[in-house]
Amino acid sequence: MEKKIDINVSKGIKVAGHTYKVKSGGQINTRLKEGEYYGRCYQSEREILLDDSFSKEQVSNSFIHEVVHAIDSAFVIRLNESQVKRLSNGLHQVLSDLGLSFIVTR
Ligand SMILES: [Zn+2]
Repeated sequence: MEKKIDINVSKGIKVAGHTYKVKSGGQINTRLKEGEYYGRCYQSEREILLDDSFSKEQVSNSFIHEVVHAIDSAFVIRLNESQVKRLSNGLHQVLSDLGLSFIVTR
């Protein structure tokens, strides 16, 4: 069987030297669902919020999506939402095909 690698991002990540907290579960999920979001990235708070009630595949995709937003902001790329979606979906496809998933634990 193909080797699978799960990377737990619950302890946070660094984007361009800035540490982002990664939060999920409980109230975070409720808050995101209210806005019909899978995840959100708050640049000033340096926080990535993920609704972890979805499938492992979806959570990993949401994480990559929010990281693209963080990179976009850090490097002032100015991607629009459609570009962020297409780029993150592409990255997710390539990474998951390689057996790499980003996971969160509460
Ligand atoms: Zn987005």
